Amino acid sequence: MANMRLTRNEMPSQAPDVRNKNFLEVALGYTEQQAIDEAKRCLNCKNRPCVSGCPVNILIPDFIKEVAEGNFEKAYDIISLSSSLPAVCGRVCPQESQCEKYCVRGIKGEAVAIGRLERFVADYHNKNKNSKVNKPESNGHKVAIVGSGPSGLTCAGDLAKKGYEVTVFEALHLAGGVLVYGIPEFRLPKAIVQQEIDSLKALGVKVETNTVIGRTLSVDELFDDGFEAVFIGSGAGLPKFMGIKGENLKGVYSANEFLTRVNLMKAYKEDSTTPIMKAKKVAVVGGGNVAMDAARCALRLGAKEVYIVYRRSLEELPARKEEVEHAMEEGIIFKLLTNPTEIIADDNFSVKAIKCDEMELGEPDASGRRRPVKKEGEGITLEVDAVIMSIGTAPNPLIKSTTEGLDTTAWGGIITDENGKTTREAVYAGGDAVTGAATVILAMGAGKTAAKAIDEYIKNK
Ligand SMILES: Cc1cc2nc3c(=O)[nH]c(=O)nc-3n(C[C@H](O)[C@H](O)[C@H](O)COP(=O)(O)OP(=O)(O)OC[C@H]3O[C@@H](n4cnc5c(N)ncnc54)[C@H](O)[C@@H]3O)c2cc1C
Repeated sequence: MANMRLTRNEMPSQAPDVRNKNFLEVALGYTEQQAIDEAKRCLNCKNRPCVSGCPVNILIPDFIKEVAEGNFEKAYDIISLSSSLPAVCGRVCPQESQCEKYCVRGIKGEAVAIGRLERFVADYHNKNKNSKVNKPESNGHKVAIVGSGPSGLTCAGDLAKKGYEVTVFEALHLAGGVLVYGIPEFRLPKAIVQQEIDSLKALGVKVETNTVIGRTLSVDELFDDGFEAVFIGSGAGLPKFMGIKGENLKGVYSANEFLTRVNLMKAYKEDSTTPIMKAKKVAVVGGGNVAMDAARCALRLGAKEVYIVYRRSLEELPARKEEVEHAMEEGIIFKLLTNPTEIIADDNFSVKAIKCDEMELGEPDASGRRRPVKKEGEGITLEVDAVIMSIGTAPNPLIKSTTEGLDTTAWGGIITDENGKTTREAVYAGGDAVTGAATVILAMGAGKTAAKAIDEYIKNK
């Protein structure tokens, strides 16, 4: 008999005025009893709209049924058929606009907390697993993966399970892509990402860090070394700026640089050698997940006032709903319908203030969202000593410029067909390098599709 409660089980979490001073994980996860209770809210409906709402089509009602019966390992096995990073996706996927959006229970109440259940199952498995991973027998074929973000790791895992000898080449000194250098510890503990990478290594995947493809080695040299196919999952790490006066002042960061210093280089630790400006008043320009992460990190580094400066309204904020709510609870100040026009300097060429126009919403633009237009008036000036630009990123042109025959779009996205095949023979691509900045689950989906295509390509060669 289903649990017909209209509301979902809350997930225990650190109190806002405690967590905004530490980098420990905010949400603490369900207990076994809470998970079973929430799972019983699933009606196991026949047409399963949640499954089609999931970009990798996890068999959601099937795994939830196992949770409801207390069979957590069986639930894990079902998720694993479709997803290789469930502990990550359970934490960072925008479920409210994917699986949970289509949950029938959402019509008259709150959707079943699918993401929280996925997280519970993955954490349960990681805590209790005693099964040894069996390394598949090699099929003698070598595949190179460029980039160790979710697209590259998924592609690597799927190919390794089929017996391919897979090497992942990563530019940074640690594997994980945005999962380690971008998303902060308090949303996604790095130990969880490391666990997922260790599982891949146990399958035989080799990871070569500090290797920049296009500099240390070219794609051509990978083929010379005997790799029969290459997957490019190099992400979209090139920051964009607004082009306004003052963006070259001391105290202006791109969100990527700021977050890399904090997350990858652990600048928040007392003994860290990574320099970071501990500003008192910070303006973060942008409204996506990246902006929320940067703002919440700035607060945890000790800033007294942190502003999100966003040119549209709350309704158009692209960040995950939960992240916006968490940021508000923690004390981030939202300056909505506000568009920066200039960053003002002090006598030392450091940031002193940010000048902004006040905006209102006009007619919808090409994206379907109402276009922000400048309101009459003088605008506002916020006194700040640091500005973090978080208005988007693009793929880095390095690989394109060093690989013959690899076509890209005008904005730098690698062009592929629906299977991830690029315009260069035996080279595949996926994730943010193809789509521009998107989501973890879409990157994973692209890695999966490409792994299938690479397998077929090598078998039919
Ligand atoms: C701060 C932040 C927060 C986010 N929050 C969320 C969220 O909550 N939910 C969500 O779903 N998505 C979120 N995203 C988006 C999501 O993380 C990305 O869409 C996803 O990581 C893309 O995966 P990827 O594999 O394509 O690339 P990435 O994760 O970017 O990984 C690419 C890797 O390739 C490496 N690389 C680049 N060039 C080379 C080269 N030439 N040679 C070797 N290696 C190279 C990079 O160092 C990097 O490690 C967030 C992104 C950021 C930046």
